[in-house]
Amino acid sequence: MTARILVVDDVLPNVKLLEAKLSREYYDVLTAMNGADALEIIEREIPDIVLLDVMMPGMDGFEVCEQIKANPNLRHIPVIMVTALSDTSDRVRGLEAGADDFLTKPVNDIALFARVRSLIRLKIMMDELRLREATSSNFGVADAEPLELNIDGGRILVVEDREIYARNINQALGGQHTVTMATEADGAVAAVQAGDVDLIIVSLSLQDSDGLRLCSHLRSMEESRQIPILILVDDTPDQMERLVKGLDIGVNDYLIRPVDQNELMARCRTQLRRKKYEDHLRDNYHTSLTLAVTDPLTGLYNRRYLETHLESLMKRAVQDNKPIGLLALDIDHFKLVNDTHGHAAGDDVLKEFVGRIKRSVRGIDLPARIGGEEFVVVMPDTDRETSMAVAERLRASVADSLFSLPELDLQIPITVSIGVSLSQGASDSPAAALKRGDDALYVAKNSGRNMVVSDEQDEPIATAQGA
Ligand code: GH3
Ligand code: MG
Ligand code: MG
Repeated sequence: MTARILVVDDVLPNVKLLEAKLSREYYDVLTAMNGADALEIIEREIPDIVLLDVMMPGMDGFEVCEQIKANPNLRHIPVIMVTALSDTSDRVRGLEAGADDFLTKPVNDIALFARVRSLIRLKIMMDELRLREATSSNFGVADAEPLELNIDGGRILVVEDREIYARNINQALGGQHTVTMATEADGAVAAVQAGDVDLIIVSLSLQDSDGLRLCSHLRSMEESRQIPILILVDDTPDQMERLVKGLDIGVNDYLIRPVDQNELMARCRTQLRRKKYEDHLRDNYHTSLTLAVTDPLTGLYNRRYLETHLESLMKRAVQDNKPIGLLALDIDHFKLVNDTHGHAAGDDVLKEFVGRIKRSVRGIDLPARIGGEEFVVVMPDTDRETSMAVAERLRASVADSLFSLPELDLQIPITVSIGVSLSQGASDSPAAALKRGDDALYVAKNSGRNMVVSDEQDEPIATAQGA
């Protein structure tokens, strides 16, 4: 996971030290020694992260941060403020300036790499998100609303058994977020399984449970694999060692006791934002999946989905020894609708047609649009008699009442021809079953349209013609 990091500090040895540490871990390091240079480099190079010293002559770190965060092209770049040890007012100002994280001088390696790694992960996700949003807006399917950056109302699970610490955490986070408490591992696991958690804070010094083991368990559980974990450690050599192990097993961030409330808030904010982006990306993924298998005009599944799904339905039908009914539908003389009333009117007819299909079939039946005015309905656990009855009901629901063209203030008659086929056991295939339906449909077309023909019948069944 390589990344470009801009180090900004007015003291040359500080710059050199951070540059050396980061280069050793194969990060690409840029440097600047004052705010103005830093802003120029940021605009030109668009680094992945900025490590920003607070105290600098001229423009200080707060001002640089404010300018980054005020620029829509730059504000997604994470900023880590490097503050003097224990200066809590600096942290508050940093938060107000929009800083994403803090490091205290002298910069400790564990802290440096933990923060950098965590923010790079966040940055990668944000880049991905920005890219996808750009792509989807090209397709005209961008989110109606831009992603809300507000992360208030996060659901935070705190695993801490010392009351005084628990109370302090609640005080820091309770106003903004929903905090749930657990005092040992089983309770924590149960809380995660019970419902939505956005962030888990785990003490590494629990009396009755091994906090590290809990983290490892949470990482492996399906429900919590994606949930960020922040650990609380005491400043002892033993705990520092466990902290490093924690970071290795995928803990996202940590705080050293005594916990500074502002720092706690800032770290939670970063992790919650990450979670929010991840959730958003996953939702987007589902949306793009949906787009890949559905038809945008009618919302029906497309041919690709139908073929895949029919395959599994037919396998299951063989196992259960149950029939599947298939309807192949094609609107009659549809080209004429387009030619006479225009393509938009044709689209309206298609939508209305799909509405009528949906009202004529059961919830478990699967209607799909497999071509322009060609549709298929798959009906699990349906014998020939029922399939024919549904087909006839569908045919009638189309022919028996006129279709509205609201744009043209017109009503026109539409009819449909339907071929019916039945699945034929283990030797049958989706392609073959669809082909039989299509052949029956062809007979219906050639026999005068507006009728239903079954693949096991030579003569089309007589149907009432016209509306
Ligand atoms: P037949 O009774 O033999 O089925 O005649 P038809 O005119 O319905 O069949 P044909 O296959 O010749 O024409 C289908 C027409 O459907 C041609 C095409 O322009 C139109 N079409 C396909 N997709 C769409 C669509 O999404 N919207 C509109 N408005 N028309 C479409
Ligand atoms: Mg047609
Ligand atoms: Mg056609």
